[in-house]
Amino acid sequence: MKVLKFGGGCLKDAKSIKKVPKIISHYDDDIVIVLSAFGKITNMLEDEKHEDVFLFIQSIMIDLGFSSYDIDDILKKQKTYFSFSNRISYPDRVSIGEYLSSEIIHRYLKLENIDNMQLDATKYIFTDSWDPNVNSAKFHSINVPDNFLESIVKQKIITQGFIASDVNSGAKTTLGREGSDYSAAIFGAAFNVDEVILFKDVDGVYSADPKKNSDVELFSHLSYDAAFELCSNGNTVVHPKTINHLKKKRIPLIIKNFDNFRKPGTVIS
Ligand code: ASP
Ligand code: MG
Repeated sequence: MKVLKFGGGCLKDAKSIKKVPKIISHYDDDIVIVLSAFGKITNMLEDEKHEDVFLFIQSIMIDLGFSSYDIDDILKKQKTYFSFSNRISYPDRVSIGEYLSSEIIHRYLKLENIDNMQLDATKYIFTDSWDPNVNSAKFHSINVPDNFLESIVKQKIITQGFIASDVNSGAKTTLGREGSDYSAAIFGAAFNVDEVILFKDVDGVYSADPKKNSDVELFSHLSYDAAFELCSNGNTVVHPKTINHLKKKRIPLIIKNFDNFRKPGTVIS
């Protein structure tokens, strides 16, 4: 089994979303797909630009060929949140982004005849209580029932990155901005997968930002410690907590380019 995580930088329009079936069919093992909010939706939700979120999502669904029934169904659910957005908590509001992407990918894969089921990450990943000073909560535990994996035969699992719930109150929380890499590691470790693959908009981990420097080295392999060191010191390609979480179980972490998934990328092991 593998975990495949897709970030918002990769899934930013219908054209990029249409590449997902091809990528996942390349991996014939059972897979868990962890999704971040599409494009810049989390920023829009933080800024309460609900109309922008609405129009963005609507145009994606139209371009993916969704029926008007499906489009209404998806938007209706979120509309309820939007209309009460001044009364819902920050985590309740920003989590809408991840729920929208998992709902859309779930239905799009079905349209493409790829059997899959959605799993609500907030029912499995728990945190300490919400800390408003850092706008995030600390990971506490993951609780997956013992026979969970046997009960889901031959179906892809679609779930959300970033979001979780308070282990005591059950209130929604998040692992903090850019936290969906960390969610992928948490699911990967709990399911004891062979590898966790993060799809990014670069070929892997570089010695410096390849978008700003021309003289950079792409690492084909890094140890957990070297990768942690790099990613805690300014290299933002991987959320650093992801690396140490997988190190504990010696599960390899692979960073690949979404637009070039056949390239080996960087292996952290
Ligand atoms: N969507 C969240 C964010 O933009 C989580 C993530 O992308 O990892 O911060
Ligand atoms: Mg994001």
